Amino acid sequence: MRSIEGGLRGPRYATVRHKGTKAQRTICSLCGERAIVSQRYSGLHLCQGHFVQDFERRVTETVQSNEMVKDGERIAVAVSGGKDSTALLFCLHRILAKRDVELVAVTVDEGIAGYRDDTITAARAIAKQLEIKQETVSFREEYGYNLDEMVLGKKVAPCTFCGVFRKSALNRAAKRLGAHKVATGHNLDDEAQSIMMNYLKGDYERLMRLRPRRAQAGLVPRIKPLRKMPEKEIALYCMVNGIFSESRECPYAKLSLRADVRDMMNSLESQFPGTKQSTVQGFEKIAKRAQGSFSQMELAACRLCGEPCVKELCKACELLGHLRSGSSHSNNCPR
Ligand code: SF4
Repeated sequence: MRSIEGGLRGPRYATVRHKGTKAQRTICSLCGERAIVSQRYSGLHLCQGHFVQDFERRVTETVQSNEMVKDGERIAVAVSGGKDSTALLFCLHRILAKRDVELVAVTVDEGIAGYRDDTITAARAIAKQLEIKQETVSFREEYGYNLDEMVLGKKVAPCTFCGVFRKSALNRAAKRLGAHKVATGHNLDDEAQSIMMNYLKGDYERLMRLRPRRAQAGLVPRIKPLRKMPEKEIALYCMVNGIFSESRECPYAKLSLRADVRDMMNSLESQFPGTKQSTVQGFEKIAKRAQGSFSQMELAACRLCGEPCVKELCKACELLGHLRSGSSHSNNCPR
């Protein structure tokens, strides 16, 4: 069997046609086994074993090339119970097994009726299976309202509230747990969507916030180890490892601009394989060139809660103030 490192340099296409039938069986580019995935962007077909090896190698490379994790660190992994965060916890647990790194799972309960309860059960189950400490924090306990209450009767995108309060809740929980980093399950699709959304809105500031950022007081640095992995491969990774749990889509997802951008990017990807990768790579080149002309803002402490912010109040306290006074806001999806 060829090693995956060597084999990945040159794709080998192979299809077995059974005698007397029209059925075709695609075989792995690296061995003679049946392929379970065809990576159109790389030209490779991979069997189950080589797919898992390739997946974990690429995540390891992402973690190492950006020095995302250092020995002696405690990493708070945001685990919602969906496929991305489940794969993230499972994969980090495997690839960091021999390193002096502690993982803690943190689940945020936004309070979305008929949706979040199932995924919280799944989050607890995967943490238990891997023997990783798990903690749940809720919007209600942290801010006094659940998401359904926050958006009831308001003409705002629920994702606006959700994104702001989730980031804040995760940061607070990570600090309580003494974590050095917060790892989130953002994947290649999420990254490409975020870049495209900011292009469409012409929001250069928010676009530049997608770059890796230096540590700042009060803000636990965030890492995205799955940022180069396509969503479909993450789902497949969960399936072959027996950790896939079917979950429905958040009922608020269709109300955001992201849902339209996601459909557009998926359509482009199927017509022009590699579109998502090139969107992210193109942004990385722009961000590199913009270095120096766009400095990271210094953060202060929120006057009300002490969380890091750029103005007098952090975004969460600002939104809570609007909630209490009954006014509404912009339609941005902040994820
Ligand atoms: Fe929150 Fe929007 Fe995601 Fe639902 S789709 S969990 S409201 S960010």
